[in-house]
Amino acid sequence: MYGLDQISEIVDEVVNRVKQKTRSFEIEASGRHIHLCREDIDALFGKKGYPLTKVKSLSQPGQFVCKERITIAGPKGIFRNVVILGPERAASQVEVSMTDARELGINVPVRESGHIEGTPGIVLINGKRTIKLDKGLIVAKRHVHMTPEDATQKQVKNGQIVRVKTNTSRPLVFDDVVVRVSPKFATYMHIDYDEANSCGLNKGNQGFIIE
Ligand SMILES: [Zn+2]
Repeated sequence: MYGLDQISEIVDEVVNRVKQKTRSFEIEASGRHIHLCREDIDALFGKKGYPLTKVKSLSQPGQFVCKERITIAGPKGIFRNVVILGPERAASQVEVSMTDARELGINVPVRESGHIEGTPGIVLINGKRTIKLDKGLIVAKRHVHMTPEDATQKQVKNGQIVRVKTNTSRPLVFDDVVVRVSPKFATYMHIDYDEANSCGLNKGNQGFIIE
């Protein structure tokens, strides 16, 4: 027989698990990558209207991995074969981890995607073609893409900052996670490789909002 205290404990545990489940989502790790504007695509590939070649769809609708890869160069180091993600954007943006930033020798701020005012630039190289971005190098702020339906169900709003606990081999609570809500999104959390390794992320692992 269970006593009242034990029953109450079991009920709490069940309520907690349901809460976790309703506020959870898959976490994906993003490696360093590049978004390019039309002008920069044309300059790097030497042809007006050069079409980026899609090789794989990403979880966010309409976003894809391109066959084209280029080199990014900082004062202290370079990375070759950096993937370009399509489609083209209004402004070019290069996303790296803090470890990458150290290797490049550039002090890179944490920013939300698209918020590139006042960020450092970087050199992009494709064979003999080189361009210098005057801004757009960021460490992406950790974020959750969410559909409006999921935002309602999980009781969060666009732009809200939440804490997310990871169900990973080395569980971690990530603070300062921004929720971004749009009907154009699929619900996934995005972190970079530094963050993914810090929590021991494996493919398919989930996280859940704790407050
Ligand atoms: Zn994202």
